[in-house]
Amino acid sequence: MGHWKDIMLRGAVIPLQQMAMFREQVAVLRGSLSSEDRARHELVRFGALLHENGFVAATDGNLSVRLEQGRVMITPSGFSKGMMQPEDMVVVDLAGGKLEGTYNASSEVEMHLAIYQERRDVDAVVHAHPCTATAFACNGISLEEPICAEVVMTLGKVPLAPYATTGTPELTQSIRPFIYDHQAILLANHGVVTYGEDLMTAYLRMEAVEHFAKVTLAARQIGAPQVLNPVQLEALEDARRKYLDRRPTKFERPGLALETLWPQLARRN
Ligand SMILES: [Zn+2]
Repeated sequence: MGHWKDIMLRGAVIPLQQMAMFREQVAVLRGSLSSEDRARHELVRFGALLHENGFVAATDGNLSVRLEQGRVMITPSGFSKGMMQPEDMVVVDLAGGKLEGTYNASSEVEMHLAIYQERRDVDAVVHAHPCTATAFACNGISLEEPICAEVVMTLGKVPLAPYATTGTPELTQSIRPFIYDHQAILLANHGVVTYGEDLMTAYLRMEAVEHFAKVTLAARQIGAPQVLNPVQLEALEDARRKYLDRRPTKFERPGLALETLWPQLARRN
């Protein structure tokens, strides 16, 4: 016998919870959700991806999306990122004051807010503890060597912010100098934070950081990785302009030139 909450639909017994999820997925596909409801679903979706990829354990990590009118929607404190529901999300103002939600906002909300304050082009932030990149951060090693062409073009340098206690203003201060010129930052003895114009971009940058950390580790185990030279970096800059700079940016300041990302290596003659 089915559960009393199950319903019959054309002879099939369907749990009500599955029906609700199905209705939500249809609404997402139809684009009939409000932007805030879409943000709730995206936070669930990309939180689940962080969990599935092993970028977080237990209740680690947090994700957020910038909403209209100076508000931010962020994942709740103390939840597995693989077990969240859309209604669990918390809405805060840019000072961190809670506006909506049953639960408390992530304890690392201040770090997210600092990024939104520094970068008006950024609408989403992802924080996680992916194993290899976090191991680099625990060893005090940044991911700044230009050894992978793809990473040079799409991610740029990943600097290491000095250690500070999680959830404190000191952590916010430690990352603030790096926010403007980068898209991903290692947090010493802690993890990684990435950001972008939407949650998909911020999440994919987290994947890219972890993959680059794995490649760097393997390359160092094999021998001495060969750093791209200034001529090669110049050619990548041309390719980046040609293939990646097509979309208009919401950012008021011009896109970062490669020589900004790799100042000591991409100097023009
Ligand atoms: Zn953390």
